[in-house]
Amino acid sequence: MIIINPATEEVIQEIAEDNQQTIDQKYQLLRKGQPAWAALSLGKRIACIAKFHALLEEQKEDLALTLTSEMGKPLQQSYNELNGARARIKYFLDNSARYLSEEWVTTEGATREKIAYEPLGIIANISAWNYPYLVGVNVFIPALIGGNAVFYKPSEYSTLTGLHIRRLLYLSGVPEDCFQVVLGKGNVGECLLKLPLNGYFFTGSYRTGRYIAEKVATQLVPCQLELGGKDPLYVMEDVEDIDQVVAASLEGVVYNNGQSCCAVERIYVHEKIYDRFVESYSKQAGKMVIGDPVDPATEIGPLSRKPQLDFLLSQVEDAVAKGAVLLSGGKRPDRKGYYMEPAVLVNVNHSMKLMTEESFGPVIGIQKVKDDAEALALMADTEYGLTAAVYSKNYERAEAIMKQINTGTVYWNCCDRVSAALPWSGRKHSGLGSTLSYQGIRAFVHPKSYHIRG
Ligand code: NAD
Repeated sequence: MIIINPATEEVIQEIAEDNQQTIDQKYQLLRKGQPAWAALSLGKRIACIAKFHALLEEQKEDLALTLTSEMGKPLQQSYNELNGARARIKYFLDNSARYLSEEWVTTEGATREKIAYEPLGIIANISAWNYPYLVGVNVFIPALIGGNAVFYKPSEYSTLTGLHIRRLLYLSGVPEDCFQVVLGKGNVGECLLKLPLNGYFFTGSYRTGRYIAEKVATQLVPCQLELGGKDPLYVMEDVEDIDQVVAASLEGVVYNNGQSCCAVERIYVHEKIYDRFVESYSKQAGKMVIGDPVDPATEIGPLSRKPQLDFLLSQVEDAVAKGAVLLSGGKRPDRKGYYMEPAVLVNVNHSMKLMTEESFGPVIGIQKVKDDAEALALMADTEYGLTAAVYSKNYERAEAIMKQINTGTVYWNCCDRVSAALPWSGRKHSGLGSTLSYQGIRAFVHPKSYHIRG
């Protein structure tokens, strides 16, 4: 497998992929190692993860550079991702004991009752490339703390980061027979689906997630999916500072080069402030610095993969062919690398792919609405259900929309945000099950009910 730097299109490294035989061997290793890991005290497992947490900070320069070189996010955003991952790990370090310890539920009478939480066994963590640390730690950290062995499949676009993760976990004291990495593309990931694993935790596209869920369904083991989105943001006419709302929305669109599952993908603006919003948005988007992601001044780096660039250009083309107006950007600049100027389109509607298909890049359509009812109807007109944001001075008005929208997360006066203390879950084509919060700790264990008489 060849690893390419998306900013230069140069080969960084060649790596040998796994195959069914090497994966079977790794499986045997994990099957042997998991019981001893589960038998360790919770405190000892937590201590290993605390060491991993410290190593992420100690080695952050190296880790950030690797991440930026293989997937193209601006270097400062790689540092931000590492800090964010450490904050999530800290949440698990501080809260796991509380949610994994035995619970006595009946202590009086003839029969005492308690719940114990036991690991699932070996789980597959099939992961995405856009935030490999963040989406990875959502799974392998609570899984390991819960006493599971982990088969970690980093994306083929974040393989070197996956190898760093493996190295640092081993350095932290996680045994090799409890954490194994599978290297390769989708066809290699497919080998995991044929093994009798005890849980499948997937982060990636709806298409692959659905395929995996169908494939492993007959195993009757937990299968969680964190999938894509087409997340809407609605701006009401009463916002105090339009420029500030534009700045927040723009960041929600283009952060991580627009490649966030909860990126803002559609904007609806009340007709009373629409023109001012659009003018400010174009002005601010036009000032964004596109460039080499290791340059500290860069705000937008290259897209991670060449096919993604072609896909976005075709979305823009489809919208323009159906009557949209491209106000700025939307072109490939004349330089090496998979770059795209951030695109701003108006006069858009839901007949255009740009407003209905996940874009996953620095492009946005801004649509005018006459009132909250129209905004809600358009926001709800999607197969996805990850997040939705409302900007307004009036919480009651915003809440009326937040209550009715069928998404796992809602935002008032913020967007594109994940908190370790809150469940992260998609509805409809955005996923199944939750990571993070206490639910994301309990997702990797199953309860055992004890009835104790005498
Ligand atoms: P993808 O579906 O192409 O790949 C995800 C992973 O699945 C990769 O490791 C890939 O190698 C593996 N894979 C592909 N085919 C497979 C198969 N047949 N069997 C087993 N494994 C297989 O997704 P991607 O491009 O890596 O990620 C982008 C998508 O992920 C976007 O849709 C984004 O919104 C979504 N995402 C969601 C969240 C969330 O928390 N909801 C977070 C990050 C990314």
